[in-house]
Amino acid sequence: MVSRVIPVNLFDLVIFGATGDLAKRKILPGLFHRFAVGQMPAKAGIIAVARTAMSADSFRDIVRESLMEFAPKFAQDKDLLARFLGQIDYVRVDATGDQGWDELAAALRPDTVRSFYLSVAPSLFGTIAAQLTAHNIATKDSRIVVEKPFGHDLASAQALNADLRRSFDEHQIYRIDHYLGKETVQNLMALRFANALWEPLWNATHIDHVQITVAEDLGVDGRGEYYDQSGAMRDMMQNHLMQLLCLTAMEPPSRFQPSAVRDEKLKVIEALNPVPQTDIVRGQYRGRDGAGGYLDHVGNSKSRTESYIAMKVTIGNWRWAGTPFYLRTGKKLRARTSEIAVVFRDPPHMIFPHVPERRGNAMIIRLQPDEGITLRNTIKEPGPGGFRLAEVNLDMTFADIVEEHSEPQDAYERLIMDVIRGDQTLFMRGDEVEAAWAWADPIINEWQSARSTPVPYDQGSSGPDDALMLLHRDGRRWREIG
Ligand code: NAP
Repeated sequence: MVSRVIPVNLFDLVIFGATGDLAKRKILPGLFHRFAVGQMPAKAGIIAVARTAMSADSFRDIVRESLMEFAPKFAQDKDLLARFLGQIDYVRVDATGDQGWDELAAALRPDTVRSFYLSVAPSLFGTIAAQLTAHNIATKDSRIVVEKPFGHDLASAQALNADLRRSFDEHQIYRIDHYLGKETVQNLMALRFANALWEPLWNATHIDHVQITVAEDLGVDGRGEYYDQSGAMRDMMQNHLMQLLCLTAMEPPSRFQPSAVRDEKLKVIEALNPVPQTDIVRGQYRGRDGAGGYLDHVGNSKSRTESYIAMKVTIGNWRWAGTPFYLRTGKKLRARTSEIAVVFRDPPHMIFPHVPERRGNAMIIRLQPDEGITLRNTIKEPGPGGFRLAEVNLDMTFADIVEEHSEPQDAYERLIMDVIRGDQTLFMRGDEVEAAWAWADPIINEWQSARSTPVPYDQGSSGPDDALMLLHRDGRRWREIG
């Protein structure tokens, strides 16, 4: 069933956890941006919820300050800012108790579609969902938005899904993966399915392999305790990289519609072959020049949690048999880079002499920084010096295109507006999340039963040497990070 698509001027958005970090840095600035460009009309209501006792005016003062920091361009416009703040209310509710729910009900208008954004710990999802129905605050048109992490393993993800589904139907549940809100990620679908050029080449006959990289230069300082319970596999691989793999590998959906797109992504996850431990490298960054390493940052000298993971993943279907997907993600690496590199096979017969060391044709879909798409081609080196080949890039940077047409959107902005519009295409469905855990669980369980220890790597490097070997032994090599 598809959610009712509504005009965007008839909504109330309730943000649970409105005093938290995510609301301050992403959700409220995102809403303000959409308001500033006229996408959020004067009738829309934002109801902020948290446990802290304060008046609506005090909360608006906090929001004013954070918008100055996180949305400075529009926050300079005092009139605009005042109008936006005028649409925000604050209600004190402790999600674990019975206080505040009637006040919340009273703050909502009767004829709006209500969206509830749970920017709180996942342990509160079920309780909040139950309270919203118990107090008749949620209606059959309401939407509920939940943040990652969605479960710690298959059992906990199933329990979270069951908790949410006791109060909401699947078509009302929006599981956020902000990677899916990125312009390039959506463009991957446009590129593949709106052009006749690529689809005939998009298979194992023409594609040698795919590399998906999400590299971060920061460590885990500040959130070490949380991260150490999770690690790169749970925090990044099972969700973000898996979603990127699905969009790259999925069959063309019959239409651009939530259930059709998500059915195809699910089929990819279900077609993944088990990954042998010999195709996985786990790493942990070490200290350097007096700077703390992972173990210092998480305050646990015996931790066996990985801050880096690389793996070779194969998909057991006709399209991809024989084309591996190499995935890697980690902290404290050389640069902050996220990209999908689709590397094509070499021509079957090379007629030219003087062939330089070739890396071959590739399409690189850059998620950050500098969202865009690069096509690596081989051309004749310009000039009179004989017939030599050279590799050049055809580059498309989205910021150049966006500037001409509109303001660039942060992934959160896009996704929040999709919730309001009732479009679930870019959100993860419950069965997708569970299938991804069903794939990840045996891998993680094996580490635990073997008491496997990650290999150390240097901060500022490309990761452990063993990860380089993962490709070298197949006669391939990773792209440079950064
Ligand atoms: P945070 O800074 O710790 O904020 C938590 C919020 O929840 C606060 O507003 C807190 O306000 C409220 N809260 C806590 N217990 C509550 C209760 N019993 N009833 C009502 N409100 C309660 O956390 P965050 O970083 O914003 O993250 C929120 C969620 O998003 C988490 O699930 C996190 O994993 C996820 N997430 C965050 C980020 C990020 O960049 N921050 C990124 C991805 C996902 P009071 O103390 O006033 O109640």
